[in-house]
Amino acid sequence: MAVEGAAVTALRSVFQRVRQAAERSGRNAEDVRVIAVSKTKPASLIRQVYDDTGHRCFGENYVQEFIEKAPQSNKAKSLVAAVHNLSMVQGVDNEKIANHLDRAVSSIGRRPLPVMVQVNTSGETSKSGIEPSHCIEIVKHVKFGCPNLVFSGLMTIGMPDYTSTPENFRTLSRCRVEICKELGMPENQCELSMGMSGDFELAIEMGSTNVRIGSTIFGPRDYSKKQQQQ
Ligand SMILES: *Cc1c(COP(=O)(O)O)cnc(C)c1O
Repeated sequence: MAVEGAAVTALRSVFQRVRQAAERSGRNAEDVRVIAVSKTKPASLIRQVYDDTGHRCFGENYVQEFIEKAPQSNKAKSLVAAVHNLSMVQGVDNEKIANHLDRAVSSIGRRPLPVMVQVNTSGETSKSGIEPSHCIEIVKHVKFGCPNLVFSGLMTIGMPDYTSTPENFRTLSRCRVEICKELGMPENQCELSMGMSGDFELAIEMGSTNVRIGSTIFGPRDYSKKQQQQ
């Protein structure tokens, strides 16, 4: 009898916790996308989870590593060119990145790329993300200045020690209210990507539509190899 891989079992348990958190807050579990964050993990492990669970949504954080894992790696000139089935980029936090992606999409002629604007809700200077008070400017730039991108929502990373998680999540929700009001958009067209291994249930209860879960599924990350590469 085959023993099911630990990551496969862990992902199934994550689905169950997502369902319970959605039910607790009167939401539909189908409205929450689980992104299995596979950075630093080998493609073989991702493949096992892909095959055994049918899960299709995986997230990467390092462009170089992502390109190496993708099958078309030798032809890769850029992320967009290398990963033809790239479904979304969540870390757009300035106009230059948006323009760069916009041009890359246009030059390879793929369908428009959904992007999320990353907001720094914790105020830590070390974190990427646009300040909440400026998020509307980036959103407008993506929506009106980047014809090959589709503005899809807002993303944030909370404090590593979880001390202000509810405030961080509330700030992201407030940004959405402001953006939707200003642009006359329905809120269900502006997704919220918040919640990681340590706080995804709270994030779902606070309205998240994308939870990005790494170590709870794949185990702790080993950065020793990564640092040598960089
Ligand atoms: C690594 C990473 C995650 C997953 O973190 P875990 O705490 O391991 O679940 C989520 N989002 C981003 C942007 C990440 O880089």
